[in-house]
Amino acid sequence: QDVLIVGGGQGGAQTAISLRQLGFEGSITIVGDEVELPYERPPLSKEYFASEKTFDRLHLRPAAYWQDKAVTLVSGETVVGLDPLAKTARTASGDSLSYGVLVWAAGGSPRRLTCDGANLAGVHAVRSRADIDAILGELPRVDRVVIVGGGYIGLEAAAVLRKLGKAVTLVEAQTRLLSRVAGPALSAFFEAEHRTHGVDIRLGQGVDRLEGDARISHVVLTGGEKLAADLVIVGVGITPNVAALERAGATATNGVDVDLRCRTSLSDVFAIGDCANQINAYAGGERTRIESVPSVSEQAATVARELTGQGRDHDALPWFWSNQYDLKLQTVGLSGGFDQEIVRGDPASRSFSVTYLRGGRIIAVDAVNAAKAFMRGRALVAGGAGVEALSD
Ligand code: ADP
Repeated sequence: QDVLIVGGGQGGAQTAISLRQLGFEGSITIVGDEVELPYERPPLSKEYFASEKTFDRLHLRPAAYWQDKAVTLVSGETVVGLDPLAKTARTASGDSLSYGVLVWAAGGSPRRLTCDGANLAGVHAVRSRADIDAILGELPRVDRVVIVGGGYIGLEAAAVLRKLGKAVTLVEAQTRLLSRVAGPALSAFFEAEHRTHGVDIRLGQGVDRLEGDARISHVVLTGGEKLAADLVIVGVGITPNVAALERAGATATNGVDVDLRCRTSLSDVFAIGDCANQINAYAGGERTRIESVPSVSEQAATVARELTGQGRDHDALPWFWSNQYDLKLQTVGLSGGFDQEIVRGDPASRSFSVTYLRGGRIIAVDAVNAAKAFMRGRALVAGGAGVEALSD
């Protein structure tokens, strides 16, 4: 194959789409371990979980598209090894695939709990269609759910499960929700919202062990409390899928290191998406791994441009979204390392924004039911505006 893409998610699919859009005529194969056509992952913890969208509507392109564009899809297959000198990739079923260029878009695997009972039936991750289908299959017999992790995944799952009338307890190891991605004001707002909607929240506690006779029955917290549970959802982040690249000698710190054109340290091997660690101007010039659809789509376009002789450095403004209840959170920029947060509008009105600054510069904005604040935030973050811009 001229271009072999590993990973049939948003990044892999978008690389092929962008290549064809830019007129690339070489052969393209996407190898992915899921059996589905490439699909959007964000709705898995939102509309698909709530049965508001059927799976067909998550497909990034209809089946005919891939045929028309001569993109070969190999599904249900995992790439386990790489020989960067011979330029071949080895699959779990023993095939060897040769490539001119390899694009690694293998994403991440949900982190599992490591405590006793972590593998009991009824303990689920939220990452793939199969995960959600398994949960939905069990839900009719489930009353009490314990969610481990108060990031986007845990909170979005909590919102859906409350809508479905389940009793939900959410356990977060840190002393506030969303601590990896947001500041205390936003954490406090979402905590209050979830409590109002009936979610029982335990902060500053981890899971000591899961108990049950084959199937989960109780979650024991590090503080000693024992919660009855018919089902457990674990949303404690991902581990980047880069083991094969590392074994092949690629430089990997947190995920695999890539340059601004998304090249790894191995020649003709690119990496994009959740598994790629890239210097980012919006992270103060540090390397960062961004888990977001807009970012990986831009990285896919960066690779496609590079391979069609129109290369330019990736410099996309990071942005994110989350839907919980009737709340639409939109985030622009990366707030990590902020030294000041300014709340604008009244959180009690359920429409407000939080602006994050570092050294007097606006680095990120969280907008809750505030599309205009988000749009304005994009310009402010992109322009590296100072605090005075807020009073304009
Ligand atoms: P995701 O995208 O899965 O939501 P995040 O990293 O944004 O991932 O959020 C995961 C959350 O889970 C973090 O707030 C983290 O503090 C929390 N967490 C991690 N491990 C545990 C644990 N063992 N028990 C409870 N919370 C945990």
